[in-house]
Amino acid sequence: MRISIEKNSTIPIYIQIKNQIREMIYKGVMTKDFLLPPERKLAKTLGVSRSTVVKAYEELKALGLVESHMGKGTRVIIQSCSEGSKKERKVIPLSWYQFFGSNIAILNEHTIMDIMNALGCRNVISFAAGIADPELYPVDNITKIQDKLWKMSGKDMLIHSPIEGYYPFRESISELLRAKDIMVAPKEVMILSGSQQGIDFSARAFISPGDVVIVEEPTFMGAIQLFKLSGAKVVGVPMDEEGMQLDILEILLNKYKPKFIYTLPTFQNPSGTVMSLKRRYGLLELSYKYQVPIIEDDPYGEIRYEGVPIPTLKALDKHNYVIYLSTFSKAMFSGMRIGWVAASTQVIKKFSMIKQMTDLHANAPAQYLLDSFLREGFYESHIKLICKNYSKKRDVMIKALKKDENQCIKFNIPEGGYYIWGKLPKGISQRELFEKASSKGVIYAPGNVFYPEENDGEGYIRLNFTFESIKNINEGISKLVEAVKETIEKSAYSFEDAECFKMPIV
Ligand code: PMP
Repeated sequence: MRISIEKNSTIPIYIQIKNQIREMIYKGVMTKDFLLPPERKLAKTLGVSRSTVVKAYEELKALGLVESHMGKGTRVIIQSCSEGSKKERKVIPLSWYQFFGSNIAILNEHTIMDIMNALGCRNVISFAAGIADPELYPVDNITKIQDKLWKMSGKDMLIHSPIEGYYPFRESISELLRAKDIMVAPKEVMILSGSQQGIDFSARAFISPGDVVIVEEPTFMGAIQLFKLSGAKVVGVPMDEEGMQLDILEILLNKYKPKFIYTLPTFQNPSGTVMSLKRRYGLLELSYKYQVPIIEDDPYGEIRYEGVPIPTLKALDKHNYVIYLSTFSKAMFSGMRIGWVAASTQVIKKFSMIKQMTDLHANAPAQYLLDSFLREGFYESHIKLICKNYSKKRDVMIKALKKDENQCIKFNIPEGGYYIWGKLPKGISQRELFEKASSKGVIYAPGNVFYPEENDGEGYIRLNFTFESIKNINEGISKLVEAVKETIEKSAYSFEDAECFKMPIV
């Protein structure tokens, strides 16, 4: 045991001894049960008085590092870290999967992760995500409004907003909805951090594990995931060109007594379908008859390229059965994360309790900003601009798909919204196609992520046409068609079989 003493130091000698012994214990030089030299002997070796060593040992005892017993000397009583790790050197890597809750573990992670990874790559042409064209973001008008707002209301914008949202903004949204014949007072409107939050809150407010919820088949992937996460059994109703098939819905309503029906009646994600007016009335009738609320998700309703607008379910609903969700993410931009719910005040109250627990309120500056954007009348002209632009992009994508004389991807022509829903040749492997297409630098959303049962939807793909440039749409579709053909060749498919795919895509 080596201890060196500096007699000229300002640190008292007993402290110097204590510190050095403490260090040796911590480093494992003195291991558990190590016997310290007798006080008298150490004092002699160091050339100090015995009482100095006694004092040092007392300090070590006070730290719980050593213990002395009459006639047995002073021993180290703790195990150093390095000593411990020498003995337990092998730490088994943590297997996180065993800790995840059963509801999160069942989510279809691989396909989604593949898409998310590919989305993060540069130089990939993406038809996968539903994102507005950044070239059309109204950055100039936003900047103008923002400069004014910071000067006028900077402090107000940086403090908390009420949980349900900045009241003048709730008034503006109620005004925006009035233009769609949705007559709701500002107190029936709540601002959300994106409309996905409204889906989440619906799940949290209504679903207990084991409950059934009804969705269209196919439907928005995020909704399927959130309902499953809440422990719901998600039951799909097939659609035709008029939307959800009501005869099947009624059988399911009888069978399951579901908590709610989640629907996207206008420019459905992913199929682009618009529910006919007759179906809308029929759906409301069933909802009243079976006393089942409807969650109407309407992020795309205003993005219409042709045809006559059909009233929303919320506008047709005279008995407050419909919870209406919408967002600025599709008509404007998604980064501000602002959406809203319009519903009965009983629902708003429950949602506001959940909001308080989740994130207190939506981003306050974003609410002020979008409120001014609406009040200054920029919104209507922005909608006109995007509709003109996106309808052109839709047409470019359709033309590019039609260039393939074999028409190996069949598709619908949506009157609005963001997506073309394509049907692939029979028997093609979705996994192989995704890998082939992404190796060529193009990605899309595979159909199965839009179905409650993962194995369904294998033969479909969703193509977004709003995000990429016209040049990239042409290039990307040509690569995608190439990938489909190469995948078909690999699975020994013959175009003769194509006859059986001449079915309407819904
Ligand atoms: N519902 C549907 C049908 C959607 O397509 C999306 C976005 N893809 C959302 C909700 C969520 O929108 P937000 O960005 O407002 O959360």
